[in-house]
Amino acid sequence: MQQCDIILIMNDEQLRERNLRAIHLSDGLNSNNSESILSDGDISEDMSTAEKLTMDAAGKSDEDDIARKLRLMRHSLAHITAAAVKRIWPNAKFGVGPVIDDGFYYDFDLGDEKISEANFSKIEKEIRGIINYGDTFEKSEMSIDQAIEWSIENNQPYKEDLLNDLKHLGTTVAKDFDMDEVGVSTKEESAVKNVSFYKIGNFVDLCRGPHLANTKDVTGVFKLMRVAGAYWRGKETNPQMQRLYGVVFSTQEELDKYLERIEQAKLRDHRRLGKELDIYTTSQLIGAGLPLFTPRGTVLRDGLSQYSNELRIGYGFEKVWTPHITKVDLYEKSGHWDKFGDELFLITSQETDDKMVLKPMSCPHHAQIYASRPRSYRDLPIRYLETATVYRDEKTGELGGLSRVRSITQDDSHVFCSSDQVEREISNLMATARELYSTVSMKLRVRLSYRDESDVYLGELSLWDSAQAQLKSAATANQIEYFEEEGEAAFYGPKIDFMATDAIGREHQVATVQLDFIQPKRFDLQYTDSKGDIKTPIMIHCAILGSIERFLSVFIEHTSGWFPFWVAPEQIRILTINNTVFDYVSDIKKVLDDVVLMKPIKYNEIRYTVDDRNESLGKKIREATNFKVPIQIIVGQKDKDVREVSVRTQSGEEKIKLSDLSDYLYKQ
Ligand SMILES: [Zn+2]
Ligand SMILES: [Zn+2]
Repeated sequence: MQQCDIILIMNDEQLRERNLRAIHLSDGLNSNNSESILSDGDISEDMSTAEKLTMDAAGKSDEDDIARKLRLMRHSLAHITAAAVKRIWPNAKFGVGPVIDDGFYYDFDLGDEKISEANFSKIEKEIRGIINYGDTFEKSEMSIDQAIEWSIENNQPYKEDLLNDLKHLGTTVAKDFDMDEVGVSTKEESAVKNVSFYKIGNFVDLCRGPHLANTKDVTGVFKLMRVAGAYWRGKETNPQMQRLYGVVFSTQEELDKYLERIEQAKLRDHRRLGKELDIYTTSQLIGAGLPLFTPRGTVLRDGLSQYSNELRIGYGFEKVWTPHITKVDLYEKSGHWDKFGDELFLITSQETDDKMVLKPMSCPHHAQIYASRPRSYRDLPIRYLETATVYRDEKTGELGGLSRVRSITQDDSHVFCSSDQVEREISNLMATARELYSTVSMKLRVRLSYRDESDVYLGELSLWDSAQAQLKSAATANQIEYFEEEGEAAFYGPKIDFMATDAIGREHQVATVQLDFIQPKRFDLQYTDSKGDIKTPIMIHCAILGSIERFLSVFIEHTSGWFPFWVAPEQIRILTINNTVFDYVSDIKKVLDDVVLMKPIKYNEIRYTVDDRNESLGKKIREATNFKVPIQIIVGQKDKDVREVSVRTQSGEEKIKLSDLSDYLYKQ
């Protein structure tokens, strides 16, 4: 039905979706749950509506309209920036130019030339020129074959590459981009027949629209931010392009706020702090996307996953363990091989002819444990939990710090239950997430993703209706802020996405709960109900931290390295003022050795060190503070005389009697 199926647009929501998929690829047969910003809601794809919207927006104060106009502005500026680049470098070749959070980027190949920050003011001047001149966005359409010819004539090999993929949609599907990212309607697996182009001045670009009516309608402020290397389609075997990032806001004030936030974020960058605080490292000998965790980083990982596990064990989850490699047959049966075969690491056996892979997810394994015995309704719900490292062959170009890695550790769990048990199980998992995120001081809200009226969803309608109602009821009961979105479910079941807000106001997609009506069927999972009939259980996938690596990237930046006491790698550092207090330090150590702490996880070993070097106290405090040790205990002769210690934390310094020290620590 679509005449023009292309938008070369990928937004951050979609990137987040991919992260989510990284958390639970499982569930991951996600066909239509990515949001395509320019095809959402009631923004029509035709130009007249876009124009109308632009004109209406001025007179309306409605927030939605402002947001929509801003999106149109960001998208239109991607075109204008490309046009500006072409004016300066007429031989530029163009990749994709998606709208992302706060702005847009565009990928260019300038051959031997390179864009540098020194060129930004020149490019910005050209952009302003195009805006002020007031070119109209003119739409035209052509057949896919004509479009391919156009790309060859105009020496645009990257567009040609995309067009060729789109021509063969249904077979190749521009797989490395994700169907949603390329913006092709995912509901039809047929090849694209026609595509549309937009022209401003003499610059033509392949695009689905919509745009502002005229470049003059760019009434907001923009700024080019940075330029970075980016492999075409994220693959390191492909040519390297240059990715130019710009931000666009409605007002100067918003832009200023944004720039301030960027400064803040830089100070908190987890890659920098990860190194400074000795949390993780990488090695070229080991490979990209395969971080190594130091003793300090391992304390963090273990503490967080122990907490997530203990919370769920409290709700009846049991730990299981499954191997890291498996026959590919398992994923063929689950259906994942067809969809995600190219994201799996293949393993060659010298012993058998079996095709093996490194485990990319644990769901089908847990299904096999369920299937290992006959099950009755009395056994349900069955709840499995496994903190497992899984491996996915993520594109090299997309790897970065801990946010996107190839070795992904999930605090994974699966519930097998009957349809009337869904609400309680979801409610337990929501309570778990609520407690964990409140402990790490992050505000949580959830998106309940439902099916829409289309026919892409599998499973009976009554099952969907009942499950969706139970999700909503569980969210209400848990007093979690939620919003509902139709058409965001995976085709095999509704889901809940948890979004956590960090200390500088950024929202991150973290936990996910996914209902699955299909995988149990694929694996013929069964139970006998109270009447003796054979039934299929529902499977609920859930990860609370999600990927621990990715969670850590968020957590490090959220806390800027000042981890809460319970999970801090080094919780206490004792600093001596001089060498007359060594015996008193032994008394303090005895107190610390005997404390058993219970919150939020139980542990009986406080992680402390002693700095009794012959250095000035000032230097010792500085070092402990740089290492962000949450509690510094300072000990001098006077403290020894009255059997006190000086406790120094981020919020100040206080004297505490040695006899009260364990009580003080209980309260941390
Ligand atoms: Zn466009
Ligand atoms: Zn799963």
